Amino acid sequence: MSLIITTDCISCGICEHSCPNHAIFPGEDIYVINTDLCNECSGFFTHPQCLQVCPVACITQINA
Ligand code: SF4
Ligand code: SF4
Repeated sequence: MSLIITTDCISCGICEHSCPNHAIFPGEDIYVINTDLCNECSGFFTHPQCLQVCPVACITQINA
């Protein structure tokens, strides 16, 4: 399971620093999550940190 960032992203960059797996990076237009690196913060936190910090709630879970 992984998370994705939707086009509502305002590229504030807050989530990038919250990710323990360094899975988030600036993309061409919006920030992007590397789904190979994202493990939903398993082993680090009980809840996905990027979901907690995003000010516009534009990160969502996918079943992949
Ligand atoms: S859920 Fe956790 S591991 Fe996945 S991108 Fe967000 S902060 Fe990183
Ligand atoms: S915290 Fe939300 S709005 Fe900010 S860069 Fe990350 S996904 Fe985009």
